[in-house]
Amino acid sequence: MNKTESTIEKFNEHVVPSYGRYDLVLEHGSSRTAVDEEGREYIDFGSGIGTNSLGYCDEKWVEAVCAQAHAIQHTSNYYYTKVQADFAAKLCELTGYSKLFFGNSGAEANECAIKTARKYSFDKYGRDAQRNVIITLVNSFHGRTIATLSATGQDVFHNYFFPFVEGFVNVEANNIGDLRAKLAENEGRVCAVMFECIQGEGGVVTLDKEFLDAISEECAAKDILMICDEVQTGVGRTGKFLCCEHFGIRPNIVTLAKGLAGGIPIGVCLCDEKTCDVLTAGTHGSTFGGNPIVCAGGNAVLDRVSDGDFLGQVTAKGEHFRSRLAEIDEVEGVDGIGLMIGVRLKSKDAHDVAKACLDNGLLILTAKDKLRFLPPLTITEEEIDKGLEILKKVLAKA
Ligand SMILES: *Cc1c(COP(=O)(O)O)cnc(C)c1O
Repeated sequence: MNKTESTIEKFNEHVVPSYGRYDLVLEHGSSRTAVDEEGREYIDFGSGIGTNSLGYCDEKWVEAVCAQAHAIQHTSNYYYTKVQADFAAKLCELTGYSKLFFGNSGAEANECAIKTARKYSFDKYGRDAQRNVIITLVNSFHGRTIATLSATGQDVFHNYFFPFVEGFVNVEANNIGDLRAKLAENEGRVCAVMFECIQGEGGVVTLDKEFLDAISEECAAKDILMICDEVQTGVGRTGKFLCCEHFGIRPNIVTLAKGLAGGIPIGVCLCDEKTCDVLTAGTHGSTFGGNPIVCAGGNAVLDRVSDGDFLGQVTAKGEHFRSRLAEIDEVEGVDGIGLMIGVRLKSKDAHDVAKACLDNGLLILTAKDKLRFLPPLTITEEEIDKGLEILKKVLAKA
């Protein structure tokens, strides 16, 4: 048995089998390259599902995280730390939102958004109004906790776990008629509409501007909160700090997580002036939320992403990536925005292709039946070309 085999055996003996995993044991990484236990190198086009936004072990990020671990690693949320205050101020400054709540994951950020929306309506309209329905979209993904699964509009995730949290109604994405119908059916009961501008797990499906405008108008007219789940699309992934900026909409609540702290657990719920004081003392919390080490990593990410023309470069690299993909015969179409990329293949199975890429030194993701690329935002055009050569080679094989 080699090192890889013995690690996998030990792991599977002791960890619940809730994931289908590749037989790959990653040991370390630098920049955009990961190295396995046998010393093989992989170009990473997945960055841990868009999480290692600055790649592996970015020097400034490591420095910030290590310095914070030496200073103070954690304190309860009954006390303040400067590193949290700095991070919150920076993020609010960058996004124009008023205040944020700290959690540790995308699901937790969305739980906070759901609670905020329900309490907003409770406070304003009273218990008897039962204004607690949240409209979410078919094919959405909002997390794996019971409430965020209830919000998620994909039946495949719902098996086994009934009963769910009440009060979630699904509307078909990009169907304005369905949106209006469901709002009418639940007249006076809807407190929020929740959506991803690009449905990531749903297969990199970008919503139409007209549909988002319709949500925006309906919400404004009826005092319904607009919640944008930017857990995957946020933090520069699409070439703007928030993806919703591309569409000219301004949600009341935005959730962020994946790429926000460069690969350590974070989730935040950003609130506008209307929603920022809804969660009063004692109404919500999270032991690890706002962990100082995580905030230090987050500060390094925010400093980089807001530096100079970083976001412009994400856009340029996204264009380069897309134009190179379009040259490949087997590619039927390329979806998404910036460095959030979905690829429809003509005849090959996306999962087989991902596996073959791995065997050839390239890590990629899939979403539904598409290939999905969420490379580190710091990737270079040279690395994009190098990775796509591997993909081309894999696709050219029978
Ligand atoms: C990944 C994801 C989540 C869930 O995030 P976790 O950190 O896994 O809880 C929620 N929403 C979207 C859009 C996501 O992509």
